Amino acid sequence: MTDGELERAVAGRIEQVRARIQRAARAGGRTDDVRLVAVSKTHSPRAIRAAVASGVTDVAENRVAEVTAKLDLLAGAQAPADMAHVGWHFIGQVQSRKASHLVGRDLLVHSVDRRSLVDRIERLAARRGVLQRILVQVNVAGESGKGGCSLREVDELVAYALDQPHVVVSGLMTIPPLQDSADGTAGRWFAELARARDRLVQRWPDVHELSMGMSADLEQAVQHGATMVRVGTDVFGPRKTGPWRPGRDT
Ligand SMILES: *Cc1c(COP(=O)(O)O)cnc(C)c1O
Repeated sequence: MTDGELERAVAGRIEQVRARIQRAARAGGRTDDVRLVAVSKTHSPRAIRAAVASGVTDVAENRVAEVTAKLDLLAGAQAPADMAHVGWHFIGQVQSRKASHLVGRDLLVHSVDRRSLVDRIERLAARRGVLQRILVQVNVAGESGKGGCSLREVDELVAYALDQPHVVVSGLMTIPPLQDSADGTAGRWFAELARARDRLVQRWPDVHELSMGMSADLEQAVQHGATMVRVGTDVFGPRKTGPWRPGRDT
């Protein structure tokens, strides 16, 4: 695909996603903004720049090696001018030993789900003299093998993270059960996360973000108060077979 073809394809999809967000916001009686976070995992830097050319302001990745390779190309002092104001997000599970690749790279990390990871991030951020912005991930349905703390633990984990001088907690994130997203029944999980956020924000007004909603279920997430939706497939098309690596352009 030429740059022009890629840009047109991505622009058309983004227009549709924005229309869906707007309709859902209206249906939910919302007047505040919902941020579209474009999930670019497996896709090329060229595809990311095409999305940014269509007005995308936020980009997310879920693998450490992939995000660092893309950041090296597209963020920081060497960033191309079109990428200079993009906000970057990390949405994958974080193994503690890989946290050192993320802290201080100006990412919002959506997937902090345990004290030991908070401790690790605090130590790294303190050593590097930076503040690390995070969301606390909640495993709303208590699925085994999935990242996230339980709804019972979330207040305590947020309080713990807020006590760390180099950690900034901005809100909560969740991924509902896949089947519920496919069936259109994820709304109850989004409502649970929103309830947790509403409770927390009364004590801590800065803990206000709700990262929820993907291609299959973004309408319900927006109706339940998502402040950011993470959309991959419906922005970039089907995912490529493996992570993007330097040297692979498509
Ligand atoms: C891949 C991914 C998304 C986007 O999924 P789509 O269904 O392609 O929109 C959202 N959130 C997380 C955590 C992801 O890993």
